[in-house]
Amino acid sequence: MSTFSGFLDEIEYVSIDRFTQLNFRSKAFFLSHCHTDHMIGLNEINSEVQLPGSLYLSEISKVIVQRRYPAVKNLVILKIGEATPISFAISECDEIDQSIGRTSVTAIPAGHCPGSVMFLFEQGNKRILYTGDFRLYREDIEGIIALKKFHENINLDCLYLDSTFLSLDYAYFPKQRESINTIIELTEKWLEANPKNIVYIRPPANYGYEFLLVQLSQYFKVKIHVTNATFKDYVYIPDIDTYISNNPYHCGRIHLCPSGNANQWKLRKSLCLPKLDERHICIIRPTAMKWRKLAANDIHYESHAEVPNSYSVCYSNHSSHDEIKFLIQYLRPKIVKLNVVPNNVCQKNAMYGVLDEITKEYQTDEQKIDMEVQESKCIEYNFHRITSIATKSSISLEKDEISLLKVKKRRRI
Ligand SMILES: [Zn+2]
Ligand SMILES: [Zn+2]
Repeated sequence: MSTFSGFLDEIEYVSIDRFTQLNFRSKAFFLSHCHTDHMIGLNEINSEVQLPGSLYLSEISKVIVQRRYPAVKNLVILKIGEATPISFAISECDEIDQSIGRTSVTAIPAGHCPGSVMFLFEQGNKRILYTGDFRLYREDIEGIIALKKFHENINLDCLYLDSTFLSLDYAYFPKQRESINTIIELTEKWLEANPKNIVYIRPPANYGYEFLLVQLSQYFKVKIHVTNATFKDYVYIPDIDTYISNNPYHCGRIHLCPSGNANQWKLRKSLCLPKLDERHICIIRPTAMKWRKLAANDIHYESHAEVPNSYSVCYSNHSSHDEIKFLIQYLRPKIVKLNVVPNNVCQKNAMYGVLDEITKEYQTDEQKIDMEVQESKCIEYNFHRITSIATKSSISLEKDEISLLKVKKRRRI
């Protein structure tokens, strides 16, 4: 879950994946992908309250935003891999640095869900990469042309990183293709055992399983049953619309229609087919969190001990520790800032410890000193900015803004 405030310390007047009133001092907006923790504030936009600048996003994200938040205007599609000049909504009375007129952004595929992108910002000599949520393998990263220069000879000043699994507990995840194949095998076995049998895919979250849904539908050549809410979001997306149905009687025997019940294992009865005998139900739970200490050749699924015909399958749409490590060491950024920081102090410290281990492998002594100086600047800058905003507009600080400050202060000590 993203804890990013939306602001970059290095480039002013942009907000990414945050659209609250606090972000309204920005003059250009960016959306990396359409999961709810990256769209905070868009639901508050209406005919009277508009974002004070354009919203840059991928083609697929545009379709989703238009459907879900029709009041949001000035959507600008970014072409993948092309540096696009950013147009800031500046009024004549704004006294701001002229350098912002020379800012460009490049959208880079992030492999997290349909339409998900990273943003590479370039302003004068500053280069900042914001990953959003991502799942990229070594070969994906090596194939991205916009990133090659950082591996070869250009400095990346700062990397804002999806650190969801920046932990040695999650060194390895099977590739999504492998996880999907396992889910297909389990599904096929169950469906072939009895014509009345039905498979319920019960993920722990409502979003993030789009690739799975498409692959299941293509393999079994049936539509997958989804909830009305999911259907409304996806029905206009060319990559997904033909693979889903919101009518459980007009689709195949595969359902991805989560109930919202926290303890999904106990939910043996079918919600969308209430007359179905529970003995015909198989539950498959794609999840990443429980798969600690997995190694490359380990079996990445298990049956649930107490619930018959139920399986957990390791499935992640965020990169593992080893994939994150490869990205960092490939790009060799001067500074890394974490977008997903746990509340728990021990976990937070452990995460920064893992990050230090990764960066110290390539950083020279000179870069380490530079990093210290840069971090101190950020603390002062952030503190000044946030307190002045809070004072001027009486907006209380958001929790993650405060924790961001605390983390930075702690790290300076
Ligand atoms: Zn996401
Ligand atoms: Zn269903």
